[in-house]
Amino acid sequence: MPLVPMRQMLDEAAKGGYGVGAFNVNNMEQIQAIMEAARETKSPVVIQASRGARKYSNDKFLYHLMLAAAELYPEIPMALHLDHGNGFDTCKSAIELGFTSVMIDGSLLEDGKTPSDLKYNVEVTKKVVDFAHERGVTVEGEIGTLGGVEDGHGSGVSHLTDPQQAVEFVQKTGVDALAVAIGTSHGAYKFTSAPTEEVLKISLIRKIHELLPATHLVMHGSSSVPKELQDVVNKFGGKLKPTWGVPIKEIQEGIRNGVRKINVDTDSRLAVTGAIRKVFAETPDKFDPRDYLKPAREAMQKVIAERMTQFGQAGHAADYKAMSLEEMRGYYKKGPSGCGGGCCCGGKGKKK
Ligand SMILES: [Zn+2]
Repeated sequence: MPLVPMRQMLDEAAKGGYGVGAFNVNNMEQIQAIMEAARETKSPVVIQASRGARKYSNDKFLYHLMLAAAELYPEIPMALHLDHGNGFDTCKSAIELGFTSVMIDGSLLEDGKTPSDLKYNVEVTKKVVDFAHERGVTVEGEIGTLGGVEDGHGSGVSHLTDPQQAVEFVQKTGVDALAVAIGTSHGAYKFTSAPTEEVLKISLIRKIHELLPATHLVMHGSSSVPKELQDVVNKFGGKLKPTWGVPIKEIQEGIRNGVRKINVDTDSRLAVTGAIRKVFAETPDKFDPRDYLKPAREAMQKVIAERMTQFGQAGHAADYKAMSLEEMRGYYKKGPSGCGGGCCCGGKGKKK
């Protein structure tokens, strides 16, 4: 299937009441692992690349791998998404390359580290939305900041999303999807013990969803960091400190309350690293990269297929035909509720 605009995929997920995993990639094996998991579970999927991934792979490589995936897995709807764009130019270059969705993270300044104010966030996000929607491309914004640092991106400080501010932000920018900060953080070290409602505020999602029923909510930093995967890494020479991620049942509660995109990276990294360590430890005589990249790819496929089933996207690959970016452009012009969509009302249909 050609690359699908993420907005269409999330609209379909909202109709079906499920969430879609957005998995980060840097190389061919990771893309293959995700596509195989999608085929196995018949899932639509978001594949995302951060700035760090684009730089690591040279994003032309990633893009053409994605085109190969589209050709080889014609039954799977997939969106190619830029994770944490740090400014207009980064988003513009992704759109011009062929990404069907971009995130502009205006919660931080362009350095990707310093928290910004709402005025800055609205301005930069609106600029990206205008450019993207004109081309049929989806936009995810962020309000509030997550803890942790991912690929050098992040302030390391967590500020929970203020629901009223979220409403103002969506109305002024017209974003399709909104990343909310509810206490999760990027990276492997999210919580030092199993998270309670005190630290992981699913109730905040409920509140934001009530105020913004037409905006697709996104959970970042949502790997579950399962103990089994940590154990494999540590058993074969790794030195991970004890850590807890976001429990699946909390993500599922989020999905029941408007979360449509769930970002997962750490779980894939742990699966890959554990599998490679195992080969190195058990068969130190091996030196063909395929001997450890193949089990790494299989381990990643396994954890992703599990997430696809848990998020509910499994079985939904054949529900719809891909819209072209040109068709999406018309959708934004008319608006999902006939009002101009992402212009003034956040798609709620009421002009301000
Ligand atoms: Zn993130």
